[in-house]
Amino acid sequence: MSDLHTASLLEIRSRLAAGEVRAEDVARACLERIKATEPSLHALLAVREEALEEARALDKEGPRPEKPLWGVPVTIKDAITTAGTRTTAASKILEHFVPFYDAFAVKKLREAGAIILGKANMDEFAMGSSTENSAYGPTHNPRDLSTVPGGSSGGSAASVAAMQCYASLGSDTGGSIRQPAALCGCVGLKPTYGAVSRYGLLAYGSSLDQIGPLTRTVADAALVFSVIAGHDPRDNTSAPRPDPAKDLADIIQAQTDLKGFKIGVPAEFLHMEGMDPAVLSACERTLEMARGLGAELVEVSLPHSTRHAIAAYYIIAMAEASSNLARYDGVRYGHRSPKASTLEELYTLSRTEGVGPEVQRRILLGAYVLSAGYYDAYYRKAAEVRRLIRQDFHSALERCDIMLAPVSPVPAWKLGSIIDDPLKMYLMDIFTVSLNLAGLPGLSFPVGKAGNLPVGMQVIGREFDERTVFRAAHALEKQIGDLAFPCL
Ligand code: GLN
Repeated sequence: MSDLHTASLLEIRSRLAAGEVRAEDVARACLERIKATEPSLHALLAVREEALEEARALDKEGPRPEKPLWGVPVTIKDAITTAGTRTTAASKILEHFVPFYDAFAVKKLREAGAIILGKANMDEFAMGSSTENSAYGPTHNPRDLSTVPGGSSGGSAASVAAMQCYASLGSDTGGSIRQPAALCGCVGLKPTYGAVSRYGLLAYGSSLDQIGPLTRTVADAALVFSVIAGHDPRDNTSAPRPDPAKDLADIIQAQTDLKGFKIGVPAEFLHMEGMDPAVLSACERTLEMARGLGAELVEVSLPHSTRHAIAAYYIIAMAEASSNLARYDGVRYGHRSPKASTLEELYTLSRTEGVGPEVQRRILLGAYVLSAGYYDAYYRKAAEVRRLIRQDFHSALERCDIMLAPVSPVPAWKLGSIIDDPLKMYLMDIFTVSLNLAGLPGLSFPVGKAGNLPVGMQVIGREFDERTVFRAAHALEKQIGDLAFPCL
C-alpha cells in the first residue's frame, strides 16, 4: 500500500500540481486507507466509488495549477448537501434523501478541483458532542478506538486524523468543528458567522451554524478556508466582503514568532471546576510557549460566558432547532410512516419513527421555550444573555489581538460513558458555545497530550480576522512540533 495518504494537504497538492503524482493514485491511496480503517472507525456514512473515475478524468486533462485543490481528496459532513450523493444528517428521517444541489462550500471545493470521497458520520442533525447520536452507529476515535471522537463533526475529524483524506468540511453550531478536532488531534476552524455561506447546510441553529474545514495542519485549514469563504447571495447572512487572499496559506506560513501579538488569556476558562489536570497543564505550557515566541499575555475576563453560556446556548439552539426541524413532517420529503391513517398520526408517527431521542428532546424543549407562556422567561432572557456574552468578547478583544483558550475541559472519553446523561454532555461544550453566540472565529489545534490522547486549544479572533488567528496558530504549531499521537 502506498503512503501517499500520510502527506499534508499542501504537500500533496504541490506534488499533484507538479505532475509528480497522479490524481488517480492519490484517490486510490485514500480509498485503500478507507477500506483498511473503516471497519474499526466508522467515520463515513457513504463512500463515493465514482471518486476514482473523477480522478482519472482530471488526470486526462492534466494538472491545473490555478485550481488550488486540484486532485485533492476530501470528505464532507453528512449535514452538507452533495448533489447526487445521499445526505442524511445521520438521521433515519433522511435515510433516502439524495439532494439535487451542492452546498455553496461543496461547489467551491469542486470548482477548486477537490475530489469528494465520501460523507462523514455525525451526531443526528449535529446535535451532540460525541457522534454517538448518529442513527447509523457511533464513530471511534482513531487515537484510541475505545473513546469518542467528539462531535458533532466526529466523522470528519476521525477521517482527517486517520488519514482517509486531506481535509473535511464540518459544521459548528456550538463547538462541533473545534471540539472533535481537539479530541482527535487535528485542526478545525469555525469561521466568523457570515464568512462561509450556509447554503446547503441542513439547518440546526441558523443564527449559530457555520461551515468550516478540518485538516491536519493550520496552513491546510487556511487553504481550504480561502477556497470556501466568500459572499453568496443565496444566504441572507452571508457577509458581502472581499474573498480571503488566495495565498492565505503562504502568508501565514511566513509567521514563525509572535512578536507584537497581544494574547488575551481568559483566566476563568482555565481555572474552571471539572478541568482535567493534564489538559490544564498542556494549556499552561502553550501559553508559556507563546510568551517565549514574543507574545505579550494579558489577562481578560469573560464573566457572563463562564456562568451563563451553556444555558443561553441550549435555549437558543433548541428554539431554533424546533423551528428548523418542523420541515421534516412526513409530507414533503423524508421518512413517511406507513402506519398513519390520519394527518395527525402522519406527523406524529413519521417524526417519532424518523428522529432519535436527543433530537426529540430538543424539538420538545425548543417548542416549550418559544411557547407563549414561557417565551419571556426563557427565550427572551437567553437572547439578552447572548448580548452580554457578545459584549464580554468584544471588550476583551479590544485589549488583545487574539485570545487563547481551552477547547474541551477533558480529553476524549470512553464510548458510552456519558451518553445517558444529557446535562453532563451539554457541559462538555462550556468553552466552545460562547464563540457561536458571539459570532467570532475560533481555530482549534493540537497543543499537547493527556496520556496518549490529544489536547487542543483554540485561538479566538476578532470578527472576520481569520488571518490573524491562522498566523498565531501556525507559529505555535511550528514551535510545538510533531506530537506523535498514536493512530490506528
Ligand atoms: N454539542 C453542541 C450541541 O449539541 C454543539 C453541536 C454543534 O456544534 N453542532 O448542540
